[in-house]
Amino acid sequence: MRLILLGPPGAGKGTQAKRLEERFGIAQISTGDMLRAEVKSGSEIGREAKAIMESGALVPDAIITAMLAKRVQQADCARGFILDGFPRTVPQAEALDVMLRENGMALGHVIELAVDDAALVDRIAGRFTCGKCGAGYHDSFKPTAKPGICDACGSTEFVRRADDKAETVGARLDAYHRQTAPLLPYYAAQGKLKQVDGMAEMDEVTRQVVAVLEGASP
Ligand code: AMP
Repeated sequence: MRLILLGPPGAGKGTQAKRLEERFGIAQISTGDMLRAEVKSGSEIGREAKAIMESGALVPDAIITAMLAKRVQQADCARGFILDGFPRTVPQAEALDVMLRENGMALGHVIELAVDDAALVDRIAGRFTCGKCGAGYHDSFKPTAKPGICDACGSTEFVRRADDKAETVGARLDAYHRQTAPLLPYYAAQGKLKQVDGMAEMDEVTRQVVAVLEGASP
């Protein structure tokens, strides 16, 4: 099973990808997470990507496609993968098509999480994660049960993404509409695009995504 989750920042791609990873035993590939790890490690890619990411713009296609080409060869991708945050431009989608063909792999569905832009700034600007176990929270929509303590592991260290600031979210949405939204007609033309309601409750979104993957209508 190989699929792409498409949608603007804050649509819930990461949350849904993690759920699908657990449910179907396939790898979640988040190019954003991979880049953040590069930034943290201080690698050459990380040094090049840091300022671009903090501005809300997209990292050059050549860097991302090279990173992804290596990632899909890893053993945990043998059973399939969920692409979360890739592709983000038409040239990336074209490179992915070539990469899959060369590896004898096929893409199943491309699932769009459709959301209203107006809801996204609030969704993104309140996000934070546990610095120890990575559990995700939100100031208004999903606070920790006890203030300042992670529900999952009890840690008191939390992190917020540098690019989740309200000032940067506008630039990220702009990049989505200008550079990523053209992927919707691209995959519709391949007959692969399915849409689910990304504004629904998280469990309902998962139900709709699973229904698409299992071939039932959502
Ligand atoms: P994300 O965690 O998917 O929201 O990605 C965070 C940031 O990483 C984006 O705003 C971009 O700067 C960069 N990024 C992640 N994936 C890609 C991609 N496929 N192409 C270009 N830039 C990306």
